[in-house]
Amino acid sequence: MELPYIINIQRYSIHDGDGIRTTVFFKGCGLSCLWCHNPESQSYSRDVMYSREKCSSCGKCIEICPHKAIHFEDEVPVTDREICQKCETCLDWCLNNARDIVGKQYTINELMREIEKDRMFYEESKGGVTLSGGEVMSQNMEYIVALLKKLKKSGINVNIDTCGFAPLDNFKAVLPYADMFLYDVKHLDSDTHKKFTGQGNELILSNLKAISDMGAKINIRIPVIDGVNADDKSMGDIIDYLKKNINVYRVNLLPYHNTGSHKYEKLGRDYLDEQLKVPSDERMEQLKAMFISNGFPDVKIGG
Ligand code: SF4
Ligand code: SF4
Repeated sequence: MELPYIINIQRYSIHDGDGIRTTVFFKGCGLSCLWCHNPESQSYSRDVMYSREKCSSCGKCIEICPHKAIHFEDEVPVTDREICQKCETCLDWCLNNARDIVGKQYTINELMREIEKDRMFYEESKGGVTLSGGEVMSQNMEYIVALLKKLKKSGINVNIDTCGFAPLDNFKAVLPYADMFLYDVKHLDSDTHKKFTGQGNELILSNLKAISDMGAKINIRIPVIDGVNADDKSMGDIIDYLKKNINVYRVNLLPYHNTGSHKYEKLGRDYLDEQLKVPSDERMEQLKAMFISNGFPDVKIGG
């Protein structure tokens, strides 16, 4: 079975569902949101990361790379990602640990062993495991379903954190094993959605409605970004849609922050954040009040 790549297994997470959780971040996503905090999770293959602040510009990586994938630009070793074969030779030779590769494969048994280490915390806090990303629902579903079956058999609570951009059949496959979906809703206007995420919202909304109709427990998560969706009209549209169509358990309003911007540099990418602004605390409280006044009983600011 082809193993998906995982970028991180985060322990003691308290922002990815109820209780203390272990969050598994899968690599690869069909969206490319401008505000993504984990750009290293967007591609489905491994990525070379480079930390400018650790680099002494010694040039050893350029000298040693067997594929001649690195060259200097203003004393910065720039990796040509088309040429790089991810052979890891440069990692071994960089004495400053300025180079890294993200993306590791785990067999299901290996991953279960990692997850089982924190079982005591799940039981004490009514927590469990959250499968996240990237996008867990667009991974190899044979692997994901087999993992879910093992988790269920072990009595571990499972949340699926999803952007919703995946085939409906994938959702149907995980539905019997998922205790809750953490489901992102970003914008109701498909053109605006496409402008900021790279894809329209039709598939995302139809999947959301379908799993709601099939009885899924749904925690809606809305990244709130001034300049994208923090205005009354955008948020009002989301509220109207959810009220009419979705059985919502909880709403999390997640204020945008740009703490992931440094990772774009590590990947040799630009961070295109000109239109993205952090919403004020006052605006977040106003939006929370909007949701509560529209009948949503459990509304939280933050994860
Ligand atoms: S080997 Fe490491 S420290 Fe030297 S130039 Fe390459 S990345 Fe920088
Ligand atoms: S991972 Fe291998 S191919 Fe890629 S830059 Fe490093 S040495 Fe070169």
